Amino acid sequence: MAMKHKPRGASGDVCGISDCKEKGHKSLSTKKVKQALTDLSLRTGEGKRTHLCKKHYKEFKKKTKKERDLDRLAWE
Ligand SMILES: [Zn+2]
Repeated sequence: MAMKHKPRGASGDVCGISDCKEKGHKSLSTKKVKQALTDLSLRTGEGKRTHLCKKHYKEFKKKTKKERDLDRLAWE
């Protein structure tokens, strides 16, 4: 096995939430993250994809799920 792999998670894969220095867990569309985590500010210049750490990814999932549930309630 060659040792020349790229150092993943060294600097690029940090959580995109400003003030958060956790390692990125999932890569998500910046637009979706902004829509879901409106009370959190994102680091600027993230491009189309934003990495979220485990903690913020959980929050993201919670928010998006809630929105979906509300949508469903509004329809039924
Ligand atoms: Zn984070």
